[in-house]
Amino acid sequence: MTRAERRHRRFVIVQRTHRVLLASYRYSPELARERAPKYADNLALCNGPCCGNPRKWFGERTRQERRLEASVSDRIIVLE
Ligand SMILES: [Zn+2]
Repeated sequence: MTRAERRHRRFVIVQRTHRVLLASYRYSPELARERAPKYADNLALCNGPCCGNPRKWFGERTRQERRLEASVSDRIIVLE
C-alpha cells in the first residue's frame, strides 16, 4: 500500500467518523468536525455491558484464555 493509499484510507475513516459524530453532536457540528480525527482510531461509542469488554463487566475470561485452558487440560498427563 502506497503512502497515497494510506492517506486516502485515513481520510475515508475520518469522514465516516465525522458522519457518525454528527449524529451525536447535532447541535455543535464544529465539535464533531474537530473531534473526528481523534475518534477515528477507536470509534466505540458504547462500552457498556451490551457491547463492552466482558471481563470488565462480568469478570469472564477472554476467548484466548479459555482456548489456552482447553488446550492445556487436553495435554495434562496424570501420573499415578
Ligand atoms: Zn452497547
